[in-house]
Amino acid sequence: MSEMMNSGRFGATAALALRYRDGDGERTVWPALIGGELLVDCGYPGQLDALGRAAAAAGAPLSGLRAAVLTHHDYDHVGALAALRRAYPSVRVYASEDDAARVEGRAKSRRLEQAEALEPNLPPEMKAWSRGFMARLAAVEPARVDEPLVDGLRLGPAGARALATPGHMPGHFSVYVEDDGLLIAGDALVVEEGLLALANPRFTLDMPRALESTSRIAALRPKAALCYHGGLWVGDVADALGTLLRRAGEAAS
Ligand SMILES: [Zn+2]
Repeated sequence: MSEMMNSGRFGATAALALRYRDGDGERTVWPALIGGELLVDCGYPGQLDALGRAAAAAGAPLSGLRAAVLTHHDYDHVGALAALRRAYPSVRVYASEDDAARVEGRAKSRRLEQAEALEPNLPPEMKAWSRGFMARLAAVEPARVDEPLVDGLRLGPAGARALATPGHMPGHFSVYVEDDGLLIAGDALVVEEGLLALANPRFTLDMPRALESTSRIAALRPKAALCYHGGLWVGDVADALGTLLRRAGEAAS
């Protein structure tokens, strides 16, 4: 892993590297901290300490945190939320209404529903992994959400606003940091081997909607995208997404 992957900053936003073990390897997810006060996503269960260290290393300790936005309720994005709320009770938490019901434990995780639906048709060698995955999803500690995200909602620093990007999940939101032209994509986009890529179809509950959301993102002409899986990608986002959308269109026709 290169040194560049260990940190990242684009204008007012610090990309915080959180590493986790995945089978034999190590991967990284990338929460964002805007202006030292607005967090976007917060890592797996048990990652609050790592999140705090990453924020401090970026010069913005979590004691300065005012708000946290959840792009959606997958456990890699909200796993550390309950611990975060206990440690920083004054932090205001935002999520879409659909996701808030699941973060708060009032409705079943859509990822768990998907895994349960797929389970009967899995090959035998995948079953143990699938059961472990479902157990990890079911074990995520519920946590309170303070305010629903709506499209265009102003979130504070650097002109940050909520951008509805459904597809990966129906309530998925991204954050657009307008002053810097930075799109914080959550899982609406990914970076794979240094290249910007569409949402992973395996984990995307509604791919046509995800492609519409991709067009919405491209229309903003961002100068960079910070993807939770893959990190910061700096360049002509609209141009890169235009190519990906054309290819997806050709494959579908
Ligand atoms: Zn994710």
